[in-house]
Amino acid sequence: MKTILSQPEKSKIKAMMSLPVVPLHIHWDGSVPAASIYNFYAKKNEHLFLPERDFFGNVIKYRGEGDRIIDSPEKLMTFQQDMRKYNITDVFLSSINMMQTKEDLFAMAFAHCSYLRSQNTRFAETRFAPQYHTKAGLSIEEIISISLDAFQKAFEQTGVKVGLILSLDRGSDPVYTEDLVREFLKFEGRILGIDLACEETLNPPEKHLKAFELTFDTEIKRTVHTGEMCTQEENLDNILVVLKQFRLSGIGHAIPLWKSSHKGSDMIEMMIEQDIRLESNPVSNYNFFIESLDDLHLDRLLDAGIKVTLNSDDPAMWKYGDNACVMSFMYDLYGKEFLFRTCRNSIESSWLLNDKERAALLSELECSDL
Ligand SMILES: [Zn+2]
Repeated sequence: MKTILSQPEKSKIKAMMSLPVVPLHIHWDGSVPAASIYNFYAKKNEHLFLPERDFFGNVIKYRGEGDRIIDSPEKLMTFQQDMRKYNITDVFLSSINMMQTKEDLFAMAFAHCSYLRSQNTRFAETRFAPQYHTKAGLSIEEIISISLDAFQKAFEQTGVKVGLILSLDRGSDPVYTEDLVREFLKFEGRILGIDLACEETLNPPEKHLKAFELTFDTEIKRTVHTGEMCTQEENLDNILVVLKQFRLSGIGHAIPLWKSSHKGSDMIEMMIEQDIRLESNPVSNYNFFIESLDDLHLDRLLDAGIKVTLNSDDPAMWKYGDNACVMSFMYDLYGKEFLFRTCRNSIESSWLLNDKERAALLSELECSDL
């Protein structure tokens, strides 16, 4: 039976926000607050509409065209947080469509950093897929370059430092993902890493191994969304493949990793041997794939020696999406020591921090209490 999550008390959220932590798995387009999106369209005198079709592709019956108009930030938020009713691509389009020009990318970098600042977050590794942002004619190279400049400018304005991870869509043709990575490689030293995201079903990771191989022996790190959306057996297969072949530094989700033993391999041992951070997204998984936050058995994984980290994934897209909520729930489940160790892991395994920043955050954590 599905456990029910309830709103953590304000004092607890505040306590969670006081802890130094580096979000390692957060999507730029999934973290723009509904109010920012709504205002963006309102300023241009443009309307957002609810999708014509539902999650299963069936035509939704509206009473009239007026019913489809999203005429308040509240209605937009309800739409965004109802991903079981609508197709995930339709939901993300409202933010992706407003990130198509240089001006828009600068505005949204500022919105993202402002959101992070509101969460008392000063550093974040943020991911996005440049190929979704070409609708106004920008090239992949231009989009990456503009985004890097935009986050530099946003840092100067907000004090929030963001490093970029570039995502490939696993539904894409593998020849195209290789081409994309060749573009990404032009930014070696300026981007943190690459990622594989989107629909996992029918798109096993090995489909994009060649694209990932292009980054082997470069400064670009590798992480993948894996073991999230498929059957448990397929999830385990996918995790095993990436652990064996992708030379990872991070792995996102890996829901059944706690089972560890699969086809003669010990996957927990492989994670530790390769020093791979686990970018876990418990509330995100709870919304779609698990019944209880405890189904991930993150306590066991942490005790086994895995670098477990807690992340929000897409904080604007569902209830209790903010990382402070995620941390609060996990604190309730496993206690203070668990929580502090995950904070430490996020700092120690961050690809963004320089030595000085890392040392400062670690000593801040040492002095923190709840
Ligand atoms: Zn994600």
